[in-house]
Amino acid sequence: MLSGPIWPKWVVTRKSTAFVPAMGWAVDFLFLYLKGVLIMKDLKLAGLKAERSSIEVKGVTVGGKEIILMGGPCAVESSIQMKQSAETVKKAGGRILRGGVFKPRTSPYSFQGLGREGLNYLVQAAREQDLLCVTEVIDAQSLELVVDQIDIIQIGARNMQNFELLKMVGKINKPIILKRGLSATIEEWLLAAEYILSAGNPNVILCERGIRTYEPSTRNTLDLSAVGVAKELSHLPVIVDPSHAAGRRDLISSLSKAAIAAGADGLLIEMHPNPAEATSDGPQSLYPEQFVQLARELGIVAGSVNRVFASGGQGDGETLESLRSQIDCIDQTIIERLAVRMQVVRKVGDQKRLDRVKDTSREKEIIQRLVSLGTELQLSPDLVKKIYAFIFEFSVQSQIKSKLTKEKDLELSLYPVGSK
Ligand code: PEP
Ligand code: MN
Repeated sequence: MLSGPIWPKWVVTRKSTAFVPAMGWAVDFLFLYLKGVLIMKDLKLAGLKAERSSIEVKGVTVGGKEIILMGGPCAVESSIQMKQSAETVKKAGGRILRGGVFKPRTSPYSFQGLGREGLNYLVQAAREQDLLCVTEVIDAQSLELVVDQIDIIQIGARNMQNFELLKMVGKINKPIILKRGLSATIEEWLLAAEYILSAGNPNVILCERGIRTYEPSTRNTLDLSAVGVAKELSHLPVIVDPSHAAGRRDLISSLSKAAIAAGADGLLIEMHPNPAEATSDGPQSLYPEQFVQLARELGIVAGSVNRVFASGGQGDGETLESLRSQIDCIDQTIIERLAVRMQVVRKVGDQKRLDRVKDTSREKEIIQRLVSLGTELQLSPDLVKKIYAFIFEFSVQSQIKSKLTKEKDLELSLYPVGSK
């Protein structure tokens, strides 16, 4: 029987106990590092570069500051369905209309898509609303049919490792949305992207759409950590499709917001004018009103992670009432954030000396930063300067007031009235 520790004495002396976990961490770190090196070795083009890539197509940039919203039905079914979908996407501030015309279905008896006829409905509806369009290709013929008319080509989850198809879309000059396979690791997904890049097409957008796990309450499990990991390993933009992950519409809103918070560059969401009648994926498709409502709520989340999303916008269907309700929502956020700012200002005041409350150089630095952010967001520098001059003035006054009150209270506690 062992009577003492199995570690050599020098490891377990009081002074060196910290060495044991440190050794464990070092081994873990080395293992992760070596694994990373092995993955990166083959990610010659998809691997992380000094700068992240953004993909520009007809004035829409995926991977820039703006969160790009893409929406539409799972499958294109009719001209009217696509017209209504396009109107909704536009109204919500979306930029890209989706719709499958070739549907790789699990069962051969399920609706397989309208093919060429559907393509016309999709392209026409997108054009009328000045939207871009995306559709899935499944083989050489479908690629040839859509390539000249579609702005972005989608490779579906089931074809993520169809290497011949990946090489084919690597030879065209349109951006590719590459969905993560149902059971693909992040490494396999990135290597699939490498196939496209190494064939000559640099414009790949990765799309996390849920992976198969043991959990049956959702169709798949949305792997949001994949967004961060993919961005750590690769320079390519990453978007999230919460619809195929959840398989149910009640989760789409929260998953979309979580995806933006997790760093996604865009969202691909299924929406149908009449989900109950949809030929595929009705249960996960949002109603048009839900899609528009979700878009209204995305701006706040985007702003909180230093991104932008402007809901609504240019749609003709906007009423004075709906615009005012957007403004009410934004005003509420402004006041809530201002209240939090004032709380922090008070705490800062506690740390300052009374004669150093006003810090002009810090004020200048803040104004400079915010004016350049404002300019990027098309906000007048004048407006930013005026608002902040007022906020600074008010903050300084409130800090002085609070310091004076505290000093008075202290004096009173040390020398109660009448004690002098
Ligand atoms: C789709 O987007 O319609 C689709 C079939 O998605 P996935 O390939 O992710 O299942
Ligand atoms: Mn679908």
